[in-house]
Amino acid sequence: MDGIVFNIMHYALHDGPGIRTVVFLKGCPLACQWCHNPESQGSRPELMITAERCTGCEDCLTVCPTHAAILEGGVPGATDACTACGRCVDACLAGARTIAGRMMTVAEVMSELVRDRVFFEESGGGVTFSGGEPFMQSAFLRSLLEACQDEGISTAVESCGMTDRQDLLGMADKVDLFLYDVKLMDQARHGEATGVGNETILTNLAALATAHAHVIVRFPVIPGVNDDSENVSLMIAMMRRLGLREIDLLPYHRIGTDKYRRLGRPYQLADLQPPSAEAMENIRRTFADAGIEASVGG
Ligand code: SF4
Ligand code: SF4
Repeated sequence: MDGIVFNIMHYALHDGPGIRTVVFLKGCPLACQWCHNPESQGSRPELMITAERCTGCEDCLTVCPTHAAILEGGVPGATDACTACGRCVDACLAGARTIAGRMMTVAEVMSELVRDRVFFEESGGGVTFSGGEPFMQSAFLRSLLEACQDEGISTAVESCGMTDRQDLLGMADKVDLFLYDVKLMDQARHGEATGVGNETILTNLAALATAHAHVIVRFPVIPGVNDDSENVSLMIAMMRRLGLREIDLLPYHRIGTDKYRRLGRPYQLADLQPPSAEAMENIRRTFADAGIEASVGG
C-alpha cells in the first residue's frame, strides 16, 4: 500500500498533545482562500520553483523530457506539459526546483515514525496525520493507522471533515484524537471562502460526536472572513448542541504566502494581516464564557 506524502515534520508541538510527528498527505477537496499549504491541495505531485536561487545554467532545459522546463528572461518556470517527473530537480544544483509530494509505502512512512517513539513515550505524544485532507487517501490512511496501532503509537487525524461518512466512522476506533476544522457555519459563506458548502462537514462532525470520538474543533480565525460575532455565536451553539467542549483557535498567518509564488499561483489574501492578540483573546474569552475550553494555537 502506498500514497502521496508531501512532508513529514518531526518534533511538532501544535498538532495534538505532547511531541508529535506530523505526516502530511496530499490532496484536499476544499480550496480555502487562506490555505497556508497550497502544495497540499492537488492530489498529484507538483513542481515548485524558487526563482531567486536560479543561476541560469540551463541544465533543467536539457534534461526535461517534455520540454516543459523554461527559462524566460532569466526566470525559471514550467509549462502545463510538466509531469512533475523530478528530473529537473535532480539536475538543478542550485536547488531552485523541488517537487511537492512523493509516493511512499506504509513501511517507508512507518520506518520514519518508529524512530520518534522515544519522544512520543516521554511526552505523551504520537503521530498526527494531516494534509491536505488525509481521508482523500482513505485506504492509505487506514493502513497507516492500523500500523501505528500495531506499534502502540497514539494517533491523531486533522480533517476538514469533507469526506465519506463510512470512511470516517469506520476508522474512528483507530484514531485517538480528531482535530476537526470548522471554518464557517453559514453554508453560502462557507462556499465562497472554501469552494464547497459545509453540510457534509457539519453532519460528519455530528456523527463523530454521537460516536463519542474525542474531537477538538479547530477554528482558523481569518479576519474579515469568519471572525464576526455571528459566526462565533453559531459555532458555540453547534458545539454545545453536540456536547463538544474543546476548541483550538488558530490565528491567520502569512507563512504560506511565498508558496503560492513558488507554485505560480495567485494568492487572494495577499494584503490580509493576522488578527491582533487582543482580537484572539476576545474570541477565546467568548468561547470560554460559554463553557468551552478554548486555547489560542494548537
Ligand atoms: S537547472 Fe536550476 S539553476 Fe539551472 S537554469 Fe534550471 S532552475 Fe536555474
Ligand atoms: S518536473 Fe519533469 S516535466 Fe516538469 S519541468 Fe521538471 S523535468 Fe520537465
